[in-house]
Amino acid sequence: METPDHVMKTLLVGGAGYVGSACLRWLLKHGHDAIAYDSLLAGNAAAVPADRLVLGDLADRDLLNQTMAEHRVEAVMHFAALASVPESIQQPETYYRTNVLGTKNVLDAMVQNQVDRIVFSSTAATYGFENEMPLTEQSRQDPQVPYGRTKLAAEHMILDYARAHGLGCGLLRYFNASGADPDGEFGEDRQHETHLIPLVLQTAVGGREKFLVFGGDWETRDGTCVRDYVHTEDLAQAHQLAIEAAEPGFARAYNLGTGNGTTVFEVIQACEEVVGRKLAYEVVDSRPGDPAVLVASSEKIKKELAWKPQFAEIRQIAETAWKWHQNYPRGYADKLSSTT
Ligand code: UDP
Repeated sequence: METPDHVMKTLLVGGAGYVGSACLRWLLKHGHDAIAYDSLLAGNAAAVPADRLVLGDLADRDLLNQTMAEHRVEAVMHFAALASVPESIQQPETYYRTNVLGTKNVLDAMVQNQVDRIVFSSTAATYGFENEMPLTEQSRQDPQVPYGRTKLAAEHMILDYARAHGLGCGLLRYFNASGADPDGEFGEDRQHETHLIPLVLQTAVGGREKFLVFGGDWETRDGTCVRDYVHTEDLAQAHQLAIEAAEPGFARAYNLGTGNGTTVFEVIQACEEVVGRKLAYEVVDSRPGDPAVLVASSEKIKKELAWKPQFAEIRQIAETAWKWHQNYPRGYADKLSSTT
């Protein structure tokens, strides 16, 4: 626990990725000690301070062990995962290896080094499609795609290790992680972008001619899918609260969303408002594995851990994301060339 004379040291596995790096920056800003462990296959070195990065793969059990020992790690946040639903349908083997076996490697290294707190990045994709909205932590977990099944398997594994080895664990089920650092210095940047907001804003900065809208005849208020977009700063705040609460014996799952359902067309409208003009898109067939509506109830974490999301409106999310895309149209490649 945080006491005036003890600062907890947290290892962020996957800490150079989009959500992980936002959490690393948040922890450092809020009086924690933290380092990232990342292969940089999906993460970006420029997203974290150079002296806070250990370059390593999730499959490298020796290096995970060594890192926890050398840095006297006391807590782990585990972000590292593959997270594309369509890709998980095509290559389940890669998803089970990274998301399930990778989690086992992290847990084994924790047990070996007596690290007894973990906060895990789980997902709304672990819930079934038949649940009523908003989803609570009591809603039925019945994932419909391999990605969600690998994340649910990892949740179960963490709970089993926690019971057997006296760990404290927080399972954080993100809805749609979005937005950027409020100063516009860090944000979303993937080699192969598949997420709605960055694709829309890349179109705005001229990196794309148009973007696609997956499905226009869903049974929703305007025919497009409804999602719950939650800002990375708010996810970061939740991680801090969860790691501080995760004393041995603590085992809780929490949804992380705003409770606001936003359609794809509403996202586009918010982006067009902050950009100041209309953007080109095409409505095409729906994407495999997409449910019509996903909205969170996050009352549990608000009540139990006093989580207070600061970016509840899609407009605020679009504003921060637009600042990042305007500053760095080609993402971290532009950031690196502006600092060298
Ligand atoms: N979406 C879209 N066009 C895209 C990417 C996404 O219409 O190019 C839709 C997608 O069908 C979903 C929403 O936008 O309803 C959010 O998708 P995203 O891939 O950003 O996140 P996910 O919900 O898959 O985690």
